[in-house]
Amino acid sequence: MINKQTIIGWATALLCPVLLLGQQHTDVPLNYLDKAFNTYDRIQKAIWSAPELGFLETQSSGLLQEHLLANGFTVETGQAGMPTAFVATYGSGTPVIALLAEFDALPGISQDTVPRRSPVEAGGSGHACGHNVFGTASVAGAVAIKTWLAETGRQGTIKVFGTPAEEGGGGKVYLVRDGFFDGVDIVLDWHPSTKNAVNVSTGTAIQMVDYTFRGKAAHAAASPDKGRSALDGVEAFNYMVNMLREHIPTASRIHYVITNGGEAPNIVPEVASVSYYIRHPNREVLQDLTKWLGEAASGAAQGTQTTVETEIVAGFYERLPNRVLAEVVQKNLESVGGIHYDARERAFAEAIAKGNGLPVTALEEVAKVQPLEEEKPSTGGGSSDVGDVSWNVPTVSFGTATFVPGSPGHSWQNVAAGGTTIGTKSLINTAKVFALTAIDLYTNPALVGEVKKEFDSRRGADFEYKSLLGDRAPALDYRK
Ligand SMILES: [Zn+2]
Repeated sequence: MINKQTIIGWATALLCPVLLLGQQHTDVPLNYLDKAFNTYDRIQKAIWSAPELGFLETQSSGLLQEHLLANGFTVETGQAGMPTAFVATYGSGTPVIALLAEFDALPGISQDTVPRRSPVEAGGSGHACGHNVFGTASVAGAVAIKTWLAETGRQGTIKVFGTPAEEGGGGKVYLVRDGFFDGVDIVLDWHPSTKNAVNVSTGTAIQMVDYTFRGKAAHAAASPDKGRSALDGVEAFNYMVNMLREHIPTASRIHYVITNGGEAPNIVPEVASVSYYIRHPNREVLQDLTKWLGEAASGAAQGTQTTVETEIVAGFYERLPNRVLAEVVQKNLESVGGIHYDARERAFAEAIAKGNGLPVTALEEVAKVQPLEEEKPSTGGGSSDVGDVSWNVPTVSFGTATFVPGSPGHSWQNVAAGGTTIGTKSLINTAKVFALTAIDLYTNPALVGEVKKEFDSRRGADFEYKSLLGDRAPALDYRK
């Protein structure tokens, strides 16, 4: 029998998908985020204004924890020997979805929120990777997801992992290695970007290694024959590495800085050190490269009659993508849309774009969402400690347009943009994508099953996780 209610039901189903979406109560977290713009603007700017380096992010981590506590999350801190790490939890039962929150800054790149180079503090730190926005967006997303769990009474757990020292300290690797991700079903990750896109790239695995050479000090003019220069060791080593570049797989990346070259030219340096980042898209090739560099360092030490000590500072896996998750996030990114500048933001962005040598039409990209790319083999690029997470829990990563198109990574332009309302708009969009994706996963157990099936098949049955940093403790003083 067809009655009036059935007709209304059909009409709703056929004509009004918005109302159907409403039945999932997606409006609850989305409205929450729209209303909370000023709250998150304040939090991200507070972190931006007091940039803290890796493992030293006491205030930044504290601000995020405080907000989560105030919103009904339980918060535990200090995981895996890292005082600024935290895990915040709300809800119960499965699926357990985790968001990652980074909050560390970079040294020497202090910059005001203006479109020309202007440090707030000469030589000071700055959020050149946008981690002020990163951490705040994940916390905003988690609180928005909590509003949905509370409203609907659905089963499910949301967690935020406060992950210190992404810039070289590798906080996530210790959390993974020490089992803190056990029991998590899915990780949703993002990163500030110049565009709105799902990231399907696997990036590169990385090994960060410090080599310290030791020789004998002597007066460089009066008794050089009594000395053995540790700096000679470093230079001979660098020279050998620069020669081997020709003969290594093309997607490799090797870069270094001399962190200690001695004290004064009239003293033969007793100690000298060089810090290397070695990368390749495949961690097994990377391990061969690292071994080769170790042999070069020993050879350099032998030839200069010095000694060398090697310290693995950090090591990250390349990323393991998940297509099923990428498609869900793509759909939600498209539904949230891009970033729309107001007049003030537009004037700022135009000045940055011009400085980057781009026409202002390049800014149109921020209002769009990029189509989902096919996966292709990585040819180099950056590394992240999210890699280790992605080999232990199915993980998806995406970006929203926090930065002005054309700006290089780790640049003063990025510090400037991330500290403006452009950064806040991108974080609110990100949090909305998190909320919509979490709702899809909480309400569709079959989808979670598909994600896990893909994860298991990509990882292979005989996969065994072994971190690239061995059993070392976190390098808590690497930025001191
Ligand atoms: Zn970053």
